[in-house]
Amino acid sequence: MSTTAATSAEFVRLEETYGAHNYHPLDVVISRARGVWVWDVEGNKYLDFLAAYSAMNQGHCHPRIVAALKEQAERLTLTSRAFRNDQLGPLCAELCELTGFSRFLPMNTGAEAVETAIKAARKWAHTVKGVPDDRGEILVFEGNFHGRTTTIVGFSSEEQYRAGFGPFTPGFRLLPYGNAEAVESAITRETVAILVEPIQGENGIVVPPAGYMRRLREVASANRVLLILDEIQSGLGRTGKLFCYEHEGIRPDIVVIGKALGGGCVPVSGILADDEVMGVFKPGDHGSTFGGSPLACAVAHAALRALVEEGMIANSARLGEYFIQRLRAMKSANIKEVRGKGLWIGVELAPEAGGARRFCEALQRQGLLCKETHVNTIRFAPPLVITREEIDWALERIVNVLT
Ligand SMILES: *Cc1c(COP(=O)(O)O)cnc(C)c1O
Repeated sequence: MSTTAATSAEFVRLEETYGAHNYHPLDVVISRARGVWVWDVEGNKYLDFLAAYSAMNQGHCHPRIVAALKEQAERLTLTSRAFRNDQLGPLCAELCELTGFSRFLPMNTGAEAVETAIKAARKWAHTVKGVPDDRGEILVFEGNFHGRTTTIVGFSSEEQYRAGFGPFTPGFRLLPYGNAEAVESAITRETVAILVEPIQGENGIVVPPAGYMRRLREVASANRVLLILDEIQSGLGRTGKLFCYEHEGIRPDIVVIGKALGGGCVPVSGILADDEVMGVFKPGDHGSTFGGSPLACAVAHAALRALVEEGMIANSARLGEYFIQRLRAMKSANIKEVRGKGLWIGVELAPEAGGARRFCEALQRQGLLCKETHVNTIRFAPPLVITREEIDWALERIVNVLT
């Protein structure tokens, strides 16, 4: 069929008829975007308040990122890691300079980068720490979200993510989130690592108590256990710092990044670590055909540059503070709690409000696109290039719908 004259309803029908039903999206069919704004096929304009789960921190079709994408696409897109290319080295150097870690290992999706961190931690435990082969435990947390591979869903506490997908990989132990004492008492001689999100995004922007990260760092160091922070969604400016862990002045042993690293254009992820950990990988131990491709690296390089040089991180801190204060000042019986950091805010609705989905649909009709997480929380996470005027525009609609 021709795509030029088709209506939204027709695209929805095609997707529902021929696509797998593993998502339940809002029925808005987007065909064009720029910065914080998107347009559907009928030409209706919306403010994007989800930013592709923070993969779009730099805004849609950022000119500098698109220019890098086009330029690289016409020159060299893929070599595989069997050969070298002239984009991977500069990206690794840029990331290390920016973060203070000594090495970067590139992958594509977030889940793959988490798997990479798990493999690094296990190999470190067996070859450096001295945990016997086929032993070792990684501590994970209730409410976690680290992706959708079979290993990762195996330690999810969300019943639906696991149901029917077993048998699962052993070697993980679930602990309550936000309680450092529980971690301390769970550690044994065979504990390999603590894998944790600094803020649980998919669980509804759950912010742990102040000092939690610092306590985990102390416990990990005291017991020779690796602290792995999944900053795939919390990192790259979302919380008003380059990484969320900077809010507590700590440094993890492995940081997992993804999402906004690809500038909303291509999937780019990876892990950052120092030599003691990254050194466990020898040629042949791990890899990915597309990981570290010149196209991905050129885009990621431009995406990082845009994020850092164009003030997006400071904007996230400043406007996040403003936005959360305005939301907290709202008087509505529908709201139970407003929480978050930077431009990453969850509004948890009262149980009697009837669920977040209908509010998201009402906001869509007013030109604001956002998505519920679980049943009762609306998540606000606009691109970090948003202006104060655009936040005010959104606030007007949020007030309309929630009060
Ligand atoms: C999105 C996300 C992932 C998974 O990333 P994919 O690219 O979807 O595989 C992992 N961890 C966190 C914290 C995420 O938000």
